[in-house]
Formats: sequence, structure tokens, C-alpha cells
Amino acid sequence: MKMLIATDDQTLMSQLRTSIDGSTFDISELSDFKLMSTFIASPENKPQLIIIDSKIPDFDADMCKKQLKSDNGLQCIVILLVDVDLDGVMYEEADGVLSVSIDRLKPLDMIPIINFGRNYLYLNEDLTAQRKKCLGLEIENKRLKQMIVERSRTDDLTGVLNRQFLFEQGEKEMRRAKRYNHALSVLMMDIDHFKRINDNFGHAVGDRVLKSFAKRCYETIRESDFFGRIGGEEFVAILPESSKEAAMMASERIRKTIERMGLPTDQGVIQYSISIGAATLMPFDQFLDDLLIRADKALFSAKTKGRNRSCFYEV
Ligand code: GH3
Ligand code: MG
Ligand code: MG
Repeated sequence: MKMLIATDDQTLMSQLRTSIDGSTFDISELSDFKLMSTFIASPENKPQLIIIDSKIPDFDADMCKKQLKSDNGLQCIVILLVDVDLDGVMYEEADGVLSVSIDRLKPLDMIPIINFGRNYLYLNEDLTAQRKKCLGLEIENKRLKQMIVERSRTDDLTGVLNRQFLFEQGEKEMRRAKRYNHALSVLMMDIDHFKRINDNFGHAVGDRVLKSFAKRCYETIRESDFFGRIGGEEFVAILPESSKEAAMMASERIRKTIERMGLPTDQGVIQYSISIGAATLMPFDQFLDDLLIRADKALFSAKTKGRNRSCFYEV
């Protein structure tokens, strides 16, 4: 730890030198106050403990404060030896500087203060490092928490919403739509002959089809819509504020996009299609399930009518 002693009193200086633990402090000495500002400003000096004798020629207490304050990063303790009969010790803390004033005639009283100062600086350094570390951990934890929440909501393979979270959101949207008498529709989608894709190209390619379909479908719907995977190759979109007509338009848009898209693989481009069943909220519907059951029936119709089509369940 770097220490500066500024005094022109040789007796005082030697008294201090002999009583200060030289193994803890790297001591520099100055006998001229005018040199102090250049000394403390120099990056290789940067003393953390400064003992200033107020009797040093040209000493100026205000100037001294100014110099220390003006050096922003300075974290130091200043022990000021004053020439007045102080009733004990005076402490003052401001701008990263702890000033301690004591009677210059009792230099040996300074030793506990110097040791106190050293501990204070060590503690301060330690606390700053700990605070930085805590802040880092806090940021990291925020990120991890967010990641855990995201993971609990998403389907591992495709990254879209998982069944549970999708249905939770769907129930909320359903209650909102019923309360305000707004439209709400659902689309239930199923990849046609998906088993064949797995059988012909392998399960890994099947997985890629699922991912690619989910991504494209997610991009095709509105930001306010909810889209998730409810099982193997079955997906559901919940469309708030969407009537039957809007839902059928969205449904056909998705279906046609997928029909055109295809998935390039080593074994050529795999073309596939999807069937979609749609249903819209009716005044008598109680739960999301009421809508999903109708959408599933419509999906069954789409399949039996030949696949690659959208069907709406008319009540
Ligand atoms: P349909 O047109 O009637 O829907 O026929 P399909 O072949 O798509 O339907 P089926 O229910 O017979 O087959 C679905 C297949 O999806 C069977 C199952 O092995 C496969 N599957 C389910 N989950 C996954 C998955 O995560 N990855 C892959 N690659 N395949 C899956
Ligand atoms: Mg299926
Ligand atoms: Mg299928």
C-alpha cells in the first residue's frame, strides 16, 4: 500500500518512519507542499494513505482538499497533522477521501489511525470487488431466471410454445374475448402423412420438417396470435380478435405457404402439406376445450376429405 508523508520536520519524519510498519507501506516523502499535486497526480504514485503536516511550507488546507477531490479515482485516507489542541481526533469523509485530523504534537497517536486507515482501505477494496461480483451474479441470475421461464413455456424441439403454456394463454384469451364480446378463433394443424416422411427420410429429417414448419407458421401469423405444438406433428394457433372469415384466411395463408415451401435435404426437397381444422368462439362456449374439440372435428373432416385443406366446423 502506497503512503506519502509530507513534512519538512525531520524529527517528525524519522519518528514516523521508525514507527510505521515498512512491510505494509511503500513510503514516499515530500518536504514541499507545492510538489504534492504533481506527486499525487502521477499514476505510478497514487498514494492511498497521505500524512500531511500542516506546518509544511506553503500548506493550504483548501488547496489540499481541492487537489485530492479533483483527482477522481483517488480512494485515499488523509491524516492531517494540525497545530491546534484538538480534543481527540476529527474525521470527515467526502469524495472518496477520508480525512482524519490529529494533533501534530502527538505523532505516535497516529499509529493506530494509520493501521485503521490501512484496514479501512483494504475493506473498501474488498467491498467494491464484492459489490461488483454481486452485481455480476445478480445480472447472471436475472438472465438464468428468464431462461428458465422461457424454457418452461417452450417446446424443446421447435422453440414454439408448449402445450401447457399455449393452453393457459388460450384460456386467458378466451375469458377476455367472452368478457368484451370479442371474436376469437383457433386453428388446429396436422402435418399430412408425416409418418411417411419419418419412414422415408429418417426421424432426424422428420424433426427438421417439424422445426421448419413451426418456424414458417410462426412467421406467417400475427404477433398477437399464439402458436404452439400440442403433440407430435400437431400444432395449434389461437387467434384473438379473429372471426370465422379472418381465421379461414389465416388458415389458407398458412396452408398455401407450407404447400409451396418444401424442405431441402441431402435427399432432395421434401414437399409436404398440412390439414387445418378451424373453429370460432360461440356465446355458449365455456372453455378453450369447447373450441378445440370443434377444431379437432374440423381437422378430421379436412383429413377425410383428402388432406392439404382447411375446414371450418359450423355449429
Ligand atoms: P395423417 O396425415 O393422417 O396425419 O398421417 P400422419 O402420418 O401424419 O399421422 P400419424 O399419426 O400416423 O403419424 C404421426 C407420426 O409423427 C408418428 C410419430 O412417430 C411421428 N412423430 C411424433 N412426434 C415426432 C417427433 O418429435 N419427431 C419426429 N420425427 N416424428 C414424430
Ligand atoms: Mg397427428
Ligand atoms: Mg399427421
